[in-house]
Amino acid sequence: MSVADQSAYVEGLALFRARMQCLFEEWKAKPFSAPENQFPVELLNALRTMGAFDALFSVEDNGLGLCQTSEGGQVLLTLLRRIGYLSLSLGRCLEGHVNVVRLVELYGTRFQRHALKLQLKNENLAGIWVTDGSSAVSIQREGPSYRLSGIKGFASGVRQVSVALITAIPEHGEALMVLAPTTDLERQRPGPGALTGMQASGTGAYDFTGLQISPDDIIGSPGDYLRQPEFSAGAWRGSAVALGGMDHLIDLLREELLERERAGSPHQLARIGEALILQKTAAMWVHEAAQAAYSAHMKSEDVTSIINLARLAVEKAALELITLVQRSLGLSAFIKGKAVEQVMRDLATYLRQPAPDEALTEAAAWFVHHDWPEAGP
Ligand SMILES: Cc1cc2nc3c(=O)[nH]c(=O)nc-3n(C[C@H](O)[C@H](O)[C@H](O)COP(=O)(O)OP(=O)(O)OC[C@H]3O[C@@H](n4cnc5c(N)ncnc54)[C@H](O)[C@@H]3O)c2cc1C
Repeated sequence: MSVADQSAYVEGLALFRARMQCLFEEWKAKPFSAPENQFPVELLNALRTMGAFDALFSVEDNGLGLCQTSEGGQVLLTLLRRIGYLSLSLGRCLEGHVNVVRLVELYGTRFQRHALKLQLKNENLAGIWVTDGSSAVSIQREGPSYRLSGIKGFASGVRQVSVALITAIPEHGEALMVLAPTTDLERQRPGPGALTGMQASGTGAYDFTGLQISPDDIIGSPGDYLRQPEFSAGAWRGSAVALGGMDHLIDLLREELLERERAGSPHQLARIGEALILQKTAAMWVHEAAQAAYSAHMKSEDVTSIINLARLAVEKAALELITLVQRSLGLSAFIKGKAVEQVMRDLATYLRQPAPDEALTEAAAWFVHHDWPEAGP
């Protein structure tokens, strides 16, 4: 990029940040009222109108490269954090959408990248539905096309998503990534059961059985979905959303203690201090994880190990924060219909991410033999 292009790029990012901050302030000021199982359509539309979805694409595709450059990555971090504050459920769906854009940019052909961009321009939300139902989704060749079979068991935004990136297992070989249409209402299924939190994410299931897809819908090569560092690195975005949930809880804690004139108690102050330390600790981990995810010079294992540790550090900080909030507010934090009660349930549910034991021990096994990498350019 030339110096002039670089400065126009930085300016574009700054303008985007300012618009994002306006949206955040406006939505933060709204009263907490929506039924908790209602998908946040209005916030989704507001995000679209302020250009958040277009900004994900590369500069060549008239975006702001939020999925490509490290400067863009820092802006994406703030976007995910702010949306996590406003709605963890929408944060989950936004994160899925970003993941699809990122995977198609990394592994898709030029034609596929262009096709996805056109598809997403038309107000479509993308989902990443990789968690299988009782058995894995399979894919079989059928003449010039392919046929899918099976159910994806955790499908966030099942009613809103119109295209999903799914994994499907061929008869021989490793899983393939497939971009499949998801607009057939007859194929929607109830999902994993009533979750105690994250109900607004509209998490259902989707039956792909019998769906025919063309070779152009297959993204990348067999095994690409699990290819490192991308497979583990993407977890930093979920941590950024969870961090937004922590920010929200801390605000709710401070507000209620002030309202009830309890904030001056030395015991409450000690807990507020502890809560702020947890928030800042989580924020520092997320920043480090985002930097690692966009690093051009770090070893793949360094990237995945840092991000695995970061996601566990954020999980731990958030769980400790929930305990502190419950201790500080007492029974008042357990009253249904209050924001603090719902955010705690949403956050606790959101924090259930796959294979945490493996993430910890794999990172530990790497750093037993390797030093922490220097922060690079
Ligand atoms: C609100 C919500 C929305 C979601 N939306 C989507 C979506 O749109 N798309 C999608 O694909 N998925 C989605 N998911 C699923 C999500 O990505 C994870 O698959 C899920 O949250 C994993 O959580 P878990 O606690 O069951 O993980 P697990 O990995 O089952 O972990 C549970 C515990 O078991 C341990 N463990 C894991 N594997 C083993 C093993 N082999 N042997 C022994 N112990 C083991 C873990 O370390 C951990 O201690 C969603 C989940 C939620 C909560």
